[in-house]
Amino acid sequence: MAEHVVRAGLPGVALPPGGFDGDAGRVLAPDLARPDAAGPADDPAVERALLLEAQRIARMGSWTLDVRTGQAYLSEGLRSLCGLPARATLTDLLALVHPEDLPVLDDFQVALRARRSSQPLELEVRDDTGQRSYLVRARPEFESGGRVVRVHGTVQDFTRFRALERQLSQDGRLFREAQRVARLGTWEWNTVTGECLWSSMLYELFGVEAGSKITYRDYLQLVHPDDRSWVDQRWQELAGTRRPVECEHRVIRPDGKRRVFRVRGESAGTDSDRGIMIGTAQDVTEQRSTETRMQRSSKRFTDLVAITPVGIALFDDSERLVDANDALCSLLGLDLERLRGMTAEQLTHPDDRDGRRGRESQSFHSGQRVLVTATGKPVYCELNATVSVADDGQRFWLVVFADVTDRRRAAERLRYQATHDELTGLPGRAAVKELLGKLLGGRDYERIALLFCDVDNFKRVNDSLGHDVGDELITALARRLERGLPPSCTVARMSGDEYVIICSDVEEAGGVEALANQVASLLRTAVPVRDQLLRVSACIGAAVPSGPETSGADLLRYADAAMFAAKARGTGRVSIASDKLIASANSQMLLEGQLREAIMNDQLVLHYQPVVGPDGTVLSAEALVRWPHPERGLLYPGDFLPVAEQGDLLGELDRWVLRAAFIEAAEWPQLCGGILGGGVGIAVNLAGLVPGDPEFVDVVSATVAATGIAWDRVVLELVETSLIDLPSRSREAMAELVERGVRFAVDDFGTGYSSLARLKELPAQIIKIDRRFVSGVATDASDFAVARALVDMARAMGRSCVAEGVENATQFHVLRGVGVDAYQGWLLSKPLPAKEFREILKLGPVHIPRGN
Ligand code: C2E
Ligand code: CA
Ligand code: CA
Repeated sequence: MAEHVVRAGLPGVALPPGGFDGDAGRVLAPDLARPDAAGPADDPAVERALLLEAQRIARMGSWTLDVRTGQAYLSEGLRSLCGLPARATLTDLLALVHPEDLPVLDDFQVALRARRSSQPLELEVRDDTGQRSYLVRARPEFESGGRVVRVHGTVQDFTRFRALERQLSQDGRLFREAQRVARLGTWEWNTVTGECLWSSMLYELFGVEAGSKITYRDYLQLVHPDDRSWVDQRWQELAGTRRPVECEHRVIRPDGKRRVFRVRGESAGTDSDRGIMIGTAQDVTEQRSTETRMQRSSKRFTDLVAITPVGIALFDDSERLVDANDALCSLLGLDLERLRGMTAEQLTHPDDRDGRRGRESQSFHSGQRVLVTATGKPVYCELNATVSVADDGQRFWLVVFADVTDRRRAAERLRYQATHDELTGLPGRAAVKELLGKLLGGRDYERIALLFCDVDNFKRVNDSLGHDVGDELITALARRLERGLPPSCTVARMSGDEYVIICSDVEEAGGVEALANQVASLLRTAVPVRDQLLRVSACIGAAVPSGPETSGADLLRYADAAMFAAKARGTGRVSIASDKLIASANSQMLLEGQLREAIMNDQLVLHYQPVVGPDGTVLSAEALVRWPHPERGLLYPGDFLPVAEQGDLLGELDRWVLRAAFIEAAEWPQLCGGILGGGVGIAVNLAGLVPGDPEFVDVVSATVAATGIAWDRVVLELVETSLIDLPSRSREAMAELVERGVRFAVDDFGTGYSSLARLKELPAQIIKIDRRFVSGVATDASDFAVARALVDMARAMGRSCVAEGVENATQFHVLRGVGVDAYQGWLLSKPLPAKEFREILKLGPVHIPRGN
């Protein structure tokens, strides 16, 4: 603080003559030095009044101190400045000084007294509030001996000056800060002398030592050699024309750093300064480098777009093509000139265009579109678009076109394969569902009819003449239907020998009955296949939607049920789904759902029917499934297996039975110490889980492992049809299981139309002679002959024979006579609940009645 106070008044640091305050100081100083001397004016009173007024304006007063007496004279001006009364003393005056400033005031007095020259000294002090500051100036008066006798002085209110000074220094600081932040320096150039004045910031920016003398030539030396001559030219223009100049040039600083400066210059303005130019120089290196970075990245982007193999185009807001890359040009076979200005719509293939209405759907904003090439060919593209804003503020679309034609073709092929039947090329089950969904969702559902056709006795053709013949027949019938039916009809193949006909306008076809009869007569024909004429017929079931709520699946079910009803009446029959039939089909549907639940919730049960040897020993048991239905009582397989088949539940059912039967059979050896039940086999019927199923071996193995049943106790019963014509993979799967000890049995042998010769091909160890032959074996000579031939052949081929449905002792003895290995039937035991079957096991060999 003290430092500040004595700022201008330290001994030896004298202010320039006349002080800071110009005129007032200069006028008053001589008078104040000699307050007692009379002025040259005529009237001292007037003179005094003027002096007083002048002091008041200058906010100044004067004083004189007699060093010897210590007496002080305070001028009237001083007293009024300080608000002191007429008789106020030096002590009164000092009492007004800020206490902190008093020591410095003492020093000041000491300095004055010790002074050798009459040069004035100055000191700044504050009032007791610290708010105001006063400049005290004093000059000693010497006696002849050189001692100070008096001190004359002034006191001037300096408060405003200090405030101004503070403001100025603050402005200066802010200005310097601003220059630093903006990396901007200022300069002045005297075009006459060539001298330049730089702000300290400019020295810093140009990397030149602060304060060194700079000329215009020095500056030009700093300018990059390549820019130097034109920069010089611009400044000379400024000097000549006095018109402002603005440009950017490079600078190589003395330390070698390269910077870019944006410089502006103009004439200093006043006429007297004609040769003086002033201006700024701003270091814009960073900004410029970001700009070049952006330019470079934009260049890279443009290059990328040009070489990228994907089509890219720029569209303006009105969807006209503005620019496109080579890839798009070659994709569409058009050059850029032709493409420019084309609209999204014009680029779209007509087939795709017609489907789209309204502007939004026409636009190229995303999704898949079919574009059209110069030659009119469709190009399938996947679009990705992004909206952006150009430099001029205009919106534009950047669209990427990925050519997915190949992918789409492959997908179409796959889809076709998935939805179309390979053999006939007709739409398959999936396509039927899709088409029905589309038609039934429309308004014209009342015009729709669905026909389900099933070729009569096709299985016999297949089994006796082979699958190839069967295939040819199926294809020939497909073509007949396609050719013979009106265009509103779509022919599809569901599976095997089943066709479906979907008619979208049954009125046009003459009504559903007429259409069904037409189909029946188309399928009642003789087809030439491999030099023979095959006589065929088919049963037709037809259905129409009962309301808008009828689904495709419903309609299929109704037509299917109608077809079954037709089948029940004979071959070549037609049936239209009635309300009653629909109701029963619906109840079938209900049953299907319940069966699914029952399987899932373990609500089915198994009965076991013993299979005995010629002496009555229980060799194995066949597991037969039953469904204790909560409302309908105990249901037998005949009641619900068709439902399971319809609902695609056979596989589920088989898995359940396999597991439940193995779990039960695994307990048998423990009964009677393992002697009786130890080797008793467990036979399970499989209809859904068959060797053709890729999971077959895995499921069987996993179930055997999980239940702990011995492999050699497992018998799997399959009907002939699931054992013939197996691919080698399935045969290998079976062989794998046989290797472990599993036996396969051909169930119902003799019902499958195949000749006995086929027996050789069947990969089974056991042949089960169907009940039909067994029942007549004692009464019908031909049944007996078949049974005997069968047993002989089976034995010759190393297979064992089981007779099914043995109901009486005569049958048993006749069959035993021809050498049947094992017997199953009511004579020996009905199928029994698990618990009762265990009792049978405990009892030992089954009693066989004597024949009569
Ligand atoms: P299947 O394999 O031929 O089974 C023998 C059928 O003949 C059983 O009928 C059985 O009760 C019956 N049966 C046994 N002895 C005699 C007899 O002396 N006289 C007469 N008239 N019938 C006798 P069920 O239990 O009604 O089964 C019918 C068919 O359902 C079975 O024929 C079989 O093909 C199938 N099936 C039964 N259980 C299952 C199963 O768990 N899974 C599968 N996929 N099918 C099964
Ligand atoms: Ca069976
Ligand atoms: Ca059977």
